[in-house]
Order: sequence, then structure tokens, then C-alpha cells
Amino acid sequence: MPPMDADQLRGYLEFYQDLGIKTLYRRAAVGGGAGGAACPVTDEHVAAETLPQILADIGDCRRCRLHEGRNKIVFGVGNPAAPLVFVGEGPGADEDAQGIPFVGRAGQLLTQMIENTAKREGIALTRDDVYICNVVKCRPPDNRTPEPDEMDICGQFLARQLAAIRPKAICVLGGTAARALTGHKEGVTKMRGKWFQWHDVPVMVTYHPSYLLRAYNQDAKREAWEDLKKVLHFVYD
Ligand code: URA
Repeated sequence: MPPMDADQLRGYLEFYQDLGIKTLYRRAAVGGGAGGAACPVTDEHVAAETLPQILADIGDCRRCRLHEGRNKIVFGVGNPAAPLVFVGEGPGADEDAQGIPFVGRAGQLLTQMIENTAKREGIALTRDDVYICNVVKCRPPDNRTPEPDEMDICGQFLARQLAAIRPKAICVLGGTAARALTGHKEGVTKMRGKWFQWHDVPVMVTYHPSYLLRAYNQDAKREAWEDLKKVLHFVYD
């Protein structure tokens, strides 16, 4: 990455400050230091974090009570430069066992939704082309909704993942993730199908696939397909 000038560095730091991130990873400048061409602001460059660096920072996380019952941390999966990121609520039993998000029944439905909708719309896309993660990285006991303090603590890692990937759009799955990411307080039926913002990134809200698995939700299924079509065309057209 080329050295940043003062304005770029200020913008970068403000972006992270807005995310509530106080500590930044700093990498020694290549060619900086004694005798080298000095960066106008510092002899070190502020490096954009990578996903492996964020995962390393999570480590064997014990920052909230969710660590007590987890088997595996479920960080995220997919293309680290994906133009589209899907964000769910938190891992379930299958995800906790495998350490991979959305691999259970709801995950299989999500994969079908992504791949079948893309195919029908003439967009060449598989699950591996997008990035998939959750607001909290450890399974809440009995699949309960994550508590606000758990989402606050773990939310910094989601924000850093999104800042590292810099997608063109985000699709949030279900009301809990939608409220966590957008700060809006409405229920998912009011929010779905509409665009919100996470910083400068457009956010589409749709139903959580677990909700769609319930047989009586045929209308919701149709609506979710409409939402997905919208976000896929926005990102890939
Ligand atoms: N539900 C979620 O919100 N996330 C997963 O990873 C699996 C189920």
C-alpha cells in the first residue's frame, strides 16, 4: 500500500473511530525510518487490517459470556474481497460444531437462495463468491437471541471484517442483525426490502432463512427472493 498523506490518514482514522475502534494495528513502513523518505505524518504506515489479522486478534476470545458454551468460534467464510456480504445473527449448533457460518438447515436454504436466484437472474455466482458471517461469533446457549452487550462486544469484529472487505453492499438476515447493523429499531417485516446504510455501504434487509423454513411462510419466501434479486442486481449488474 502506498504511503498515505495527512488527509488520507485523517479520513482513515476517523472511519475507524466512527466504528468505535480505538486500537489500530500499525505496520512498520517499508523503506521508512532513518535515511528513508519520511511519511509526512509518521514513520509508520497505518495498515488496513486483513481478515486473518482480525481473526488473530479474536484469539481464544473470552470477552463475553458466550465463550462459556462454545465449541468453535465462527468467524466467517467466503471471498475476502467479496462485493457482497451476508450477515446473520449468530451461530447455531451445526455452525458451532464446524466453525463455519450457515452450514445447518438454514444455511443450506441460504446457499440455495443465493445460487438459485443468481442463476435465474443470469448472474454467475456461487456461495464461495460472497462472504458470510454473523454479528456474534459464538453460539448463544439454546440458540437464544444474543444480548445487547454481547452484540456490542462482538460487533467490533464484524465492523472490522466489513472494513477489511469493503463490500459494495451488505445483506442482513433477520431483525436482530438488521437492528444491530443499521441502528434502526423496527421489526424485520417493516425493514425488509428496503435499503439502509452501514457507513457508506448500502444495506439490504431480508428475512432470516430459519424463519423461511417454517412451512406457513410462503409469502415471506417470495418476499425474500424479491429482496435477494434487488441486492444481486445492485451488486453484480
Ligand atoms: N443462523 C445464523 O444467524 N447464523 C448462522 O451461522 C446459522 C444460523
